Amino acid sequence: MTEPYDAIIIGGGPAGMMAAIEMAGRGLHVLIAERNKLLGRKLRITGKGRCNITNNCDFDTLIQNVCQGGKFMYSSFRRFSNVDVIDFFENHGLPTVVERGGRVFPASQKAYDVAELLGNVVRALKIPVLYECRVQHFTLTEDAPSRIAGVSAIVCGKMRKIPCKSVILATGGITYPLTGSTGDGYTLAKQVGHTIVTPRPSLVALKCREKALCASLEGLSLKNVSLRLKRAGKCLYEDFGEMVFTDSGVSGPLVLSASRHVTGTEEYKMHIDLKPGLTPQQLDTRILSDFSKYEKRDFINALDDLLPKRLIEGIVQRSGIPARQKVSGVTREQRMKLVDTLKDFTVTPFEPASVDQAIVTAGGITLSEVDPKTMRSKICPNLYFAGEILDVDGYTGGFNLTVAFSTGYTAGNCAEA
Ligand SMILES: Cc1cc2nc3c(=O)[nH]c(=O)nc-3n(C[C@H](O)[C@H](O)[C@H](O)COP(=O)(O)OP(=O)(O)OC[C@H]3O[C@@H](n4cnc5c(N)ncnc54)[C@H](O)[C@@H]3O)c2cc1C
Repeated sequence: MTEPYDAIIIGGGPAGMMAAIEMAGRGLHVLIAERNKLLGRKLRITGKGRCNITNNCDFDTLIQNVCQGGKFMYSSFRRFSNVDVIDFFENHGLPTVVERGGRVFPASQKAYDVAELLGNVVRALKIPVLYECRVQHFTLTEDAPSRIAGVSAIVCGKMRKIPCKSVILATGGITYPLTGSTGDGYTLAKQVGHTIVTPRPSLVALKCREKALCASLEGLSLKNVSLRLKRAGKCLYEDFGEMVFTDSGVSGPLVLSASRHVTGTEEYKMHIDLKPGLTPQQLDTRILSDFSKYEKRDFINALDDLLPKRLIEGIVQRSGIPARQKVSGVTREQRMKLVDTLKDFTVTPFEPASVDQAIVTAGGITLSEVDPKTMRSKICPNLYFAGEILDVDGYTGGFNLTVAFSTGYTAGNCAEA
């Protein structure tokens, strides 16, 4: 009989690799089981191929940006924080740069380099990786509570049983399933009695009722706007930044973060302030100055300095001012309507785009069933969790990878063999 591994880490994404690296660093004999032919497949497409590794923010901001499970993450972040993530990559020879909003990227701007670095550390530590290995079941002991004695997996088309002393489950969520994350981990966790908070898309584009308007503006990116998402008049999310129109609604960093709060069953309103840097009075002064510059023009031809060209028609329509009215004849009341339209451009999101297209999965392993200090299951004593499989998710800005690295480190640091 083969000597059991101290731990089998199921899933070779950022969480699984970090867990394996930390555990092997403790001198333990671990195996990574990965269903793909390479490690970190999703990691390679993160941040539009640039990989927003983490965020250079303070501890409180870090917690606040983990919109679900921030409190749960407290101990894990104390053990391995965003600062530790940066140090880890820098100390392994990958310089990083900080961009707008504290977003940290590799200086090379290549997600590929991040995945390769982790893979290289795995190789340097001589951690065996079983590729094309899809774990399907746990073999359980008869103890009460029962422990995992090994895993059954299809390896390159053949069923194999691999004995182990503990398991770290790091199979990710259900988004971008072609990368390997298809929710297998939920089935495995259920086998030992865990409950799953229903997975749903988060950080995803939103479909809007104003489909024709959005489609006409598809690809138009708005920088430096502020956005408020409301439901029944209550503000659910508010921030400043960048968004983009799609063929069926809206997307971009601001919208992705706001999407966390859209469950698809209620009535939402998204209020976009196109000129957040100007008060209504300052904006009116600015409009007056443009109107006097273009005093002989029709209203529709007098907004070129104020707005992107493609947005003008929509704004003119919403303002109620006739497009062909001469600007010299625009009344104060009409100008106020224009100011309102610019300061409160609304769209009506009604549904997130499909989970396949979401950046991250909300929902997952119920947090009350996991010890936040160690990532150990409270149901099965030699099972640990790491990464997106947990019911933890954050906003855009590098927070989801920070969760993956931090929980991966914690599980690897605490897993008993
Ligand atoms: C397009 C895109 C861009 C993103 N950009 C960013 C970003 O810039 N910054 C950020 O912070 N976050 C980003 N994210 C989110 C981030 O990538 C994830 O939160 C993170 O990858 C989760 O890590 P994980 O290790 O938990 O899971 P995953 O990365 O999903 O890894 C899970 C691994 O488990 C393997 N696996 C699954 N089931 C089995 C099984 N049965 N047996 C064996 N192996 C299995 C999978 O093949 C996979 O390799 C992005 C996500 C997407 C989709």
